[in-house]
Amino acid sequence: MTAMTATPSGPRPLLNRRLAEFGTTIFAEMSALAVSTGSINLGQGFPDTDGPEQIREAAVRALRDGRGNQYPPGPGVPELRTAIAGHQQRRYGIGLDPDREVLVTAGATEAIAAALLALVEPGDEVVALEPYYDSYAACIAMAGGTRVPVTLRPHDGAFRLDLDELRAAITPRTRLLLINTPHNPTGTVLARAELTAIAELAIERDLLVVTDEVYEHLTFDAAEHVPLATLPGMRERTVTIGSSGKTFSFTGWKVGWVTAAPDLVTAVRSAKQFLTYVSAGPFQYAIAEALALPDAYFDGFRADMTAKRDLLAAGLADAGFGVFRPQGTYFITTDIRPLGFDDGFAFCRALPERCGVVAIPNAVFYDDRQAGAPFVRFAFCKRLPVLEEAVSRLKGIAP
Ligand SMILES: *Cc1c(COP(=O)(O)O)cnc(C)c1O
Repeated sequence: MTAMTATPSGPRPLLNRRLAEFGTTIFAEMSALAVSTGSINLGQGFPDTDGPEQIREAAVRALRDGRGNQYPPGPGVPELRTAIAGHQQRRYGIGLDPDREVLVTAGATEAIAAALLALVEPGDEVVALEPYYDSYAACIAMAGGTRVPVTLRPHDGAFRLDLDELRAAITPRTRLLLINTPHNPTGTVLARAELTAIAELAIERDLLVVTDEVYEHLTFDAAEHVPLATLPGMRERTVTIGSSGKTFSFTGWKVGWVTAAPDLVTAVRSAKQFLTYVSAGPFQYAIAEALALPDAYFDGFRADMTAKRDLLAAGLADAGFGVFRPQGTYFITTDIRPLGFDDGFAFCRALPERCGVVAIPNAVFYDDRQAGAPFVRFAFCKRLPVLEEAVSRLKGIAP
């Protein structure tokens, strides 16, 4: 194959310039290392047990009944759009028209891509909280935008947003703020006061806001998830992204959604229709049922994940890690400096051999790699015996 074209400066790379910096993700490297060393993989965030049996059965029923086996409607099946609107109304008091203000996507990942591709012009700046979920940077780049990270910094045992830094990051070229709460990888849940300040800034500078709220049901202790769209003046400028993957422990189904004012949904749909056109049919019917589960499901899920967080957080602290106890998500960010290390990359590459556990260096989620260097992320969405075994293996880490 002669895919490379010779130029005076050498062969032209296959991967275009927008994506060149992204290469393969650390998750591939670390998951391969987990397999080759027989390690417990606390790197990538997916549960090791499936969600509710009745929802699995609902998917089987839809498939057998021939619902969704052929192209479903582009915006999503009406049953799911109605269920999403019902969920937002019940939980947050947000009233949505299922026909004009809800769009079903192939997971939150497609929702993020479609929102950025639809709303960002080449040259626009997108302000995102750093460390950021890895697809944000790639999607901003694919849209031709420039990412402007605002770093969450450790403060009293948690990563917090410095509102002055956020304000300083906004320029006349800023088009939108990309927010994520509860926040992966730090476990920070932005407080109402922080969200209010973000909202005031967005209104003052006339910015759009895309908010990734896929962990909305995973908040712990007294932390409360506040959707940005519920704050005054935000309804008409906010694109809210949700997903069934994390909430119902079916990450492989890839059913996500966008909720926003009609003109924003129309814009995002314009991009989505040429990405996947439609999203997996039978699973949409099953997730419609999942969203209507009684509160007991959501409470039970939160209690289960709280116990897992507590077990892993205590085990990591015992092993000598600095632990940022997460208020949300299913990740714990740790500081490896108390153990005598300061390079998360080297630490994570050696950890499988040393202890039989895989984790992710938070530096991969930073532009400012130095700021992220001493932090390492562990996922706790695994069965309790798996976490217990991981904790016992990690006891041997201290040099
Ligand atoms: C897992 C995750 C996603 C992706 O969600 P899917 O529905 O699986 O595409 C998006 N954002 C964050 C912050 C995540 O952790």
